[in-house]
Amino acid sequence: MRANVVVIGGAVMGSSVAWWLSEMNPALEILVVEQDPSFARASTALSVASIRQQFTTAVNVEISRFGIGFIRDFKRRLGLDLGLKENGYLFLAQTAEGAQTLAEVAAMQRTHGAATEVWDPAAIQARFPWLNVEDLTAGTFGARDEGWFDNMGLLAGFRSGAKAKGVRFVTDRVTGIRVTNGRVVGVTLEKAGKVDCDTAVNAAGTRAAEVCRMAGLDLAVEPRKRTVFVIDAPNARHPDAPLLVDAGFYLRPEQAHWITATVPHQDGPCAADDFEPDLHLFEEVIWEQLYARAPGFDAVKVVRHWVGHYAYNTLDQNAILGPHPEIANLFLMNGFSGHGLQQSPAVGRGIAEHILTGAWQTIDLSDLSVQRMVDGKAFLERAVV
Ligand SMILES: Cc1cc2nc3c(=O)[nH]c(=O)nc-3n(C[C@H](O)[C@H](O)[C@H](O)COP(=O)(O)OP(=O)(O)OC[C@H]3O[C@@H](n4cnc5c(N)ncnc54)[C@H](O)[C@@H]3O)c2cc1C
Repeated sequence: MRANVVVIGGAVMGSSVAWWLSEMNPALEILVVEQDPSFARASTALSVASIRQQFTTAVNVEISRFGIGFIRDFKRRLGLDLGLKENGYLFLAQTAEGAQTLAEVAAMQRTHGAATEVWDPAAIQARFPWLNVEDLTAGTFGARDEGWFDNMGLLAGFRSGAKAKGVRFVTDRVTGIRVTNGRVVGVTLEKAGKVDCDTAVNAAGTRAAEVCRMAGLDLAVEPRKRTVFVIDAPNARHPDAPLLVDAGFYLRPEQAHWITATVPHQDGPCAADDFEPDLHLFEEVIWEQLYARAPGFDAVKVVRHWVGHYAYNTLDQNAILGPHPEIANLFLMNGFSGHGLQQSPAVGRGIAEHILTGAWQTIDLSDLSVQRMVDGKAFLERAVV
């Protein structure tokens, strides 16, 4: 078998780059290899599926500026309404320093077209009277372009759009990458055997490092477990609530219920197939803080929970994008930590443009290059939720 481009991993990143490539060059033979088309364990399917403009690096704001427009326009372009619920994000600060940082970052976001507003505690209270603001110094609120949407719809749209343009999707597992004279010449599939290619793309999510190792390369990406709780709080029904980012947890409404999660105190790598939930986190970590922030959460029932994995970039929690400096026709789209879903439209387009032209085009994504990982030079995103 042969293809111009082989994409390893067919969830949101792999499907996005495949669709963009097929749009930009319909003559290209593109093969997407996905080991589990149910996506039961893919981060894409286990995501909280939200988009924000409130990032601390300009490139991430630019990526989200494009992402929100694309999500709004998805029905026209790819036939599905993603049901965007534009309730905004509310980031909270509890110290003078925290307030200062929020204000600085908001100013940067606004220069890129975001609508981030800086609020004092009284303004937060006026807009969301059910919140306790006593301990707060400030908050930032995204008055537009932030909220949540249908993650599986996004994936389905990219996949069906790519299929309609002739992209082949196969159910198989990439077990090897064949490299000759510093270039990928093909990949090996568990069932179908050898596939020759001109370019390979690593879109393997939490298994990105495993895939890089097949080409003899290291990558500082590891699976990190996140347990998400869906809760019922009969005394707190606020469908207009934002996605609240507090010091120790986040919270957003989900129809009649709420979704909440935290970062475990002892956060570290887990096995890629370990989906055992950390159930104690709700009772021991989240609930007390939640109740302190909003007294309406006095009576709460966990309705269900799920576990997803971040593909966690241990250097700087940011995406790792573009050609690998040691193997120029191996492209990486990895390490998205907790913000890859919203980045998939811009990142898919960026990687496709780079494959076709040899450089970044519409958005300069070089801050997120693979080279920084090789050099160990962090490009830190501080707003990792
Ligand atoms: C709990 C949670 C909440 C999140 N919340 C948000 C959010 O609110 N907003 C946001 O933007 N992002 C969020 N994210 C992050 C986002 O979901 C991910 O960054 C994004 O989905 C990553 O997509 P991906 O395609 O890179 O990886 P994945 O979805 O993990 O897909 C990788 C695919 O590669 C396949 N694969 C791996 N190895 C091989 C192989 N050798 N051969 C063939 N196939 C292979 C896998 O089967 C898998 O389907 C969240 C993630 C989690 C876990």
